[in-house]
Amino acid sequence: MTDNTQKLDLIIVGAGFAGMYMLHRARQQGLTAKVLEAGSDVGGTWYWNRYPGARCDVESLEYSYQFDEALQQEWQWSQRYSPQPEILAYCQHVAERFDLRRDMEFNTRVASAHFDEGARCWAITAEDGRRWDAQFAVMATGCLSMPNVPDVAGADAYTGPIYHTGRWPKEGVDFTGKRVAVIGTGSSAIQSIPLIAKQAKSLTVFQRTPNHSVPAQNRPLDPTLEKAVKANYADLRARNAQELVGFGARHPTNQGSVLEASPEERQAQFEYHWQLGGLLFMRAFGDTGLSTEANEYAAEFIRGKIKEKVKDPKTARKLLPDTAVGCKRLCADSGYFETFNEPHVTLVDLRETPLKGLYADGVETDEARYEVDAVVFATGFDAMTGALARIDIRGRSGQALTEAWVEGPKSYLGLQVVGFPNLFTVTGPGSPSVLTNMLPSIEQHVRFIGDTIADLQAEGYATIEAEPEAQEAWVGHVNEVGDATIYPTCNSWYVGANIPGKPRVFMPYLGFPAYCEKCDAVRAAGYEGFHRAA
Ligand code: FAD
Ligand code: NAP
Repeated sequence: MTDNTQKLDLIIVGAGFAGMYMLHRARQQGLTAKVLEAGSDVGGTWYWNRYPGARCDVESLEYSYQFDEALQQEWQWSQRYSPQPEILAYCQHVAERFDLRRDMEFNTRVASAHFDEGARCWAITAEDGRRWDAQFAVMATGCLSMPNVPDVAGADAYTGPIYHTGRWPKEGVDFTGKRVAVIGTGSSAIQSIPLIAKQAKSLTVFQRTPNHSVPAQNRPLDPTLEKAVKANYADLRARNAQELVGFGARHPTNQGSVLEASPEERQAQFEYHWQLGGLLFMRAFGDTGLSTEANEYAAEFIRGKIKEKVKDPKTARKLLPDTAVGCKRLCADSGYFETFNEPHVTLVDLRETPLKGLYADGVETDEARYEVDAVVFATGFDAMTGALARIDIRGRSGQALTEAWVEGPKSYLGLQVVGFPNLFTVTGPGSPSVLTNMLPSIEQHVRFIGDTIADLQAEGYATIEAEPEAQEAWVGHVNEVGDATIYPTCNSWYVGANIPGKPRVFMPYLGFPAYCEKCDAVRAAGYEGFHRAA
């Protein structure tokens, strides 16, 4: 057991994009800082999600750091949406370029973070008992980092290997000649299914909720586009900062109403945006995200495409989504629906025949047993709060974060929680986070946290803490904005509905520019809504 007596300025938990940049920024400010990371290297999401087909759904030219001009000029992406190994290589390049690893402790899972009110510092303890003390703690633990492995009956009895997309083995998995089951049809499943099907002898997909997916239209990165973007990267970044979701300024949303458009205009706009691909489909009309009536036109268009693609009408029918497009994150695929035309691929609709669980040789539903050699859980994450809830975080008077959040997460700006001084969350609940291109969101948070610490030091304060009224008002505002959209209409992880017993609360904040303006105004007004003490 090590008791690190030297008190650091800052402890950062997590070495994904957020933790890496936070460390770099802290060093630039002359702070002593250390990153604690459960994995054996940097990368976070891109370290853990090594499943076949994993890639980003925001274009690589935009899903990348912008804090360093030389970095964004020198790095070359190979594809429009680059694959996981390349994004991981980018993370490793950043770690080397800024010599980050020397202040990182890998294979270190943080078990607790306790605030000492007397010493006004955070004591952070790893699972193996090592301890660090720091004035500030930054939880860069990720929104989608705690896998959700459903508690299915018979999992212990199953004799084959079980994988989760979010914990994919580093050495990869060879499914050649194997009978494989994939449980789930979210983004991870939709990316991996076409590739698993290519290898496997047979593939059975267990679907609970059919999902909307738009072809990613992935392709090699166009060198002319790359050159044009790099000639004035700052301009694209600045224009993206004005986008509701922090990306896509090159393809502005058609602000027209689908309800007012003629049938020809509707068809033309949807088809054009279908060809743009993936998340950009949502830009066909300004109101499809706002009302279910408007959204239904987009849903009908996608259903038409699925019926065209899937040859067997029975399978096609099972694949037709009945939720609003985008109320679960829209999936971006490369040949997902077409995979169901393969003779060795079978779709099992769990709404017709519920999942009973696993048994020694495979997967079992109410009606049948499916003998398989491997099971893949593509069942997602305990999102937004899962990684934080697994750490015993205690603030003033020993209050646990899980107690403070028993009715759902409450946070001021997704950055701080009442009762937890000097503790910051990066892309916490109540921030734009998962509704945006997460890299600019992460950078904005890191800058805010860095500036906040610098201002505290310059003005002679030792602590900062969210005020209850400001937190309540912000939570109310986040919900009000969410309620004016189609987001709360389905059982997504945005509302915690994928985790049994999790309070149903719409967790992210819609509106990247408004959020950034709010943060700037809060700082300009001397940290309005925060209490600072000397
Ligand atoms: P993460 O990358 O999740 O890193 C958090 C780190 O904290 C992890 O390494 C974890 O091990 C560590 N950690 C957590 N708890 C502890 C603990 N107790 N002790 C020690 N370490 C801990 N977003 C987009 O904007 N565009 C995309 O295209 C996109 N694609 C995605 C694809 C997948 C498959 C997934 C799962 C997510 C995707 N996201 C995407 C969201 C993605 O999570 C973010 O873009 C971004 O990578 C998050 O970075 P982060 O540093 O905040 O968190
Ligand atoms: P997800 O979207 O939560 O999908 C999980 C799937 O598993 C859903 O189909 C869900 O069904 C199913 N499921 C969960 N529990 C189940 C159970 N007990 N029995 C049967 N089915 C069950 O998770 P994900 O696909 O990992 O994606 C999570 C998020 O990560 C995405 O929304 C996205 O933000 C990000 N991501 C992005 C990309 C990308 O394209 N760049 C790729 C992967 C992930 P229900 O819908 O019925 O709950």
